Amino acid sequence: MKAMGFTSTAPVEESPLQLMEVPVPVPRPGHVLVKIAACGICLTDRHQIEGDLPQKYSPTIPGHQIIGRVAGIGEGASKFKVGDRVGIVWIYSACGTCAYCQRGNENLCDSARFTGWDVPGGYAEYVVVDQGFAYLIPDRFSDSQAAPLLCAGVIGYRSLRLSGVQPGQTIGLYGFGASAHIVLQVARYWGCRVYAFDRKESARKLAETLGADWTGSIEARPPRKLDAAITFAPSEDVVLWALEALDKGQRLVLNAIAMAARQEKPFSYPQQLWYEKEVKSVANVTRQDVLKFLPLAAEIPIMPEFREFPLQEANTALNLLKQGKIAGAAVLKVA
Ligand SMILES: [Zn+2]
Ligand SMILES: [Zn+2]
Repeated sequence: MKAMGFTSTAPVEESPLQLMEVPVPVPRPGHVLVKIAACGICLTDRHQIEGDLPQKYSPTIPGHQIIGRVAGIGEGASKFKVGDRVGIVWIYSACGTCAYCQRGNENLCDSARFTGWDVPGGYAEYVVVDQGFAYLIPDRFSDSQAAPLLCAGVIGYRSLRLSGVQPGQTIGLYGFGASAHIVLQVARYWGCRVYAFDRKESARKLAETLGADWTGSIEARPPRKLDAAITFAPSEDVVLWALEALDKGQRLVLNAIAMAARQEKPFSYPQQLWYEKEVKSVANVTRQDVLKFLPLAAEIPIMPEFREFPLQEANTALNLLKQGKIAGAAVLKVA
């Protein structure tokens, strides 16, 4: 099968992904083989490709927002039948027995493995997955609409829940990309006021089109203090801007797997943390998040903005994303 993989990490400007021919994987007992239709591109893919996250096998095939159809069934797997449309997300497996797994926090499991990082992912024609970590996709979404829901959407949803925001309250979204543009749609559905912060005018425009109540640049002072905030931009400076805009006693959630060190903004305890402000990071995602989010996304319905690229053009898509030239999500259309 064809895949876009990398053997060593490099800036995406150097086009590190190469088109390669690799064997179609064989599903082990309890697993299914999935013929991939679409795979969303996530910022985490770039962190992997550029070496912000360690490379764990080579060649690495990234991609963890996978939509495809079951094409083969391993021994003892009975959850799906051939032809079912399923999604595969960032969490690929967890031990199931540790204290974290026992309490439903498999996202924190020390032995958890992640799609595209620990095992081959969705920049390819086929992938295998444990049937317990694959999910039926609601009919109302096309393949390319559904793909960005699987990380940008699901992890955004987890962040939104953990922010504790209530109907009628104001939430600030910092960095208005693939994830924030989905979170906005959920927050508005819940009756929240949404403020969107982004350096790029095109991103602020998209936020306005989707119904943001106010938009501003990342360091802008919003018209009222925030009852909750989420940062999506992988920058410590942005964390401090967001804390300054946050009201007393409220929570900031950090949605980022890696973060660039502070360059511009000094830390000020009285301005940024005093008065019982809280900071919480979001790590990965659980199966429960996926199972709760997908029906909600269909009910709202969330309509992700996306731009499609052929699999072979993954380098181009990653470069355009890095330059901020894609509003919403980028999706590799595989079949
Ligand atoms: Zn992701
Ligand atoms: Zn575990």
